[in-house]
Amino acid sequence: MPAAFFGHGSPMNTLEHNRFTEAWSVFGATIPRPRAAVVVSAHWYTNATAVTAMRRPRTIHDFYGFPDELFAFEYPAPGAPEVAQEVVDTLQPRWAGLDHDSWGLDHGTWSVLAHVFPRADVPVVQLSINALEPLEYHVDIGRRLAPLLARDILVLSSGNVVHNLRRIAWDQPAGGFDWARRFDDAARSLMVDAPADVLRLTEHPDYGLAVPTPDHFIPLLHLAGVAQATGATPDVLVEGCSYGSISMACYAIGLEVTSPGEDAAAAALAPADVPPEQANI
Ligand code: ZN
Repeated sequence: MPAAFFGHGSPMNTLEHNRFTEAWSVFGATIPRPRAAVVVSAHWYTNATAVTAMRRPRTIHDFYGFPDELFAFEYPAPGAPEVAQEVVDTLQPRWAGLDHDSWGLDHGTWSVLAHVFPRADVPVVQLSINALEPLEYHVDIGRRLAPLLARDILVLSSGNVVHNLRRIAWDQPAGGFDWARRFDDAARSLMVDAPADVLRLTEHPDYGLAVPTPDHFIPLLHLAGVAQATGATPDVLVEGCSYGSISMACYAIGLEVTSPGEDAAAAALAPADVPPEQANI
């Protein structure tokens, strides 16, 4: 069965092995090998809907203060100009532009794909998040991407249900604030039971704390849109909070999942001497 995925990593997750990265590895090893991956990343949040169309997308190091080995990390997956055109076509009448020389693969994409496809042998195109559009637009983009699954293209949306860098609690590497867990729970209920109602999350009393900016939340809307259009029910691939105010919950379509144990190692988020809101994670 074709597959879609929602999850996100900080740059630190690229080289780590924890229960979240293990779940990503299991996902990649279990799904049928796709022809290409279309990845929406929270970190390409810009004033247009654009698709990378270069044959050799560069690895973008869009963060600050991390170890040198992360700045040296390369994810050399090929691009796929013909798949970029398929994305433009499937989004119509929504407009999307082909990006030939601006973006590439940012860490929202490669921190996850380094585990999903560690050999970087699946072609990747990135799709931007149009910051000028309302949330309903992004659900609709997900619906319009859904037919790609039947064409052996993986749709991967990279974001966090809860992402509040100003509330990071370094002393809770594997914990979540009550408000973060409440919102995460509400998101899970909707995603697995009623993805068509995902925008009800904006009425949740903890929405303001959980989603102080929409960039990391919007990729969840893409997966909800895919679920709506395909009738598939997202499964929880792995869940849990890190550092109080980050949800690491991942959802997948097209996989019979087993969740790794809750007691495994937590995800490291950023070097402790870098304020997360300055690290762009
Ligand atoms: Zn991020």
